Amino acid sequence: MRVLVVEDEKRIADFLSRGLQGAGYAVDVASTGGSALDCVHSAEYDLVILDLNLPDMDGLQIMEKIRIRKPGPPVLILSARSGLDDRVKGLELGADDYLVKPFAFIELLARVRALLRRGQPAPEKLQVGDLTLDCIRRKVTRSGETIELAPKEFGILEYMMRNKGRPLSRTMIVEHVWDMAYDGLTNIVDVYIRHLRTKIDDRFPQKLIQTVRGIGYMIEAPDRPAEQPTEPATERQV
Ligand code: CA
Repeated sequence: MRVLVVEDEKRIADFLSRGLQGAGYAVDVASTGGSALDCVHSAEYDLVILDLNLPDMDGLQIMEKIRIRKPGPPVLILSARSGLDDRVKGLELGADDYLVKPFAFIELLARVRALLRRGQPAPEKLQVGDLTLDCIRRKVTRSGETIELAPKEFGILEYMMRNKGRPLSRTMIVEHVWDMAYDGLTNIVDVYIRHLRTKIDDRFPQKLIQTVRGIGYMIEAPDRPAEQPTEPATERQV
């Protein structure tokens, strides 16, 4: 899940991006309206957190511009202004929720999670074969056994499980799990997939993470019984 934070106050922007990254989201920060619009036009976000009070543009104008794109990401407005007018106007312009500063991070996180759930009527638990991922508690189990994952590993697995049976390219995975500050190679995905395989597949006869030649990776519970020969290990190194 990738979130754009539009906030010119560096202290608040840092606080939000650190907190959201800690919760497992990929976060980009834009400190002006202009750069926010550049971000929205060049990348796909699952959510925009928008401060209304920006140096170069009114937040409500940005709202309107984001809303021209359909379907756009849900927008959560942040504002120091507690005026009812702004709140009503923001919601009329299509904001999905509204939070008045100062707020507790836990409150913001609860709203973020609610909006992301609304955006895609996603189940709170994802299932592939005997592998379960609990999106709320951020817990992964296979055959009832808890598996500890690092935040990026969790992010990749969640993205793959939400798209089970669909081949995903390395670029798609990077765009959904890493933020814009990452400009390295998409080969990093191979490294993380290797870690994920060690943690979720190696000890089990049924391998869930599949390599899709020429594309990338996919997660799927194989139809064939586990006794049947699976693909040789060398074929994984595409
Ligand atoms: Ca501001």
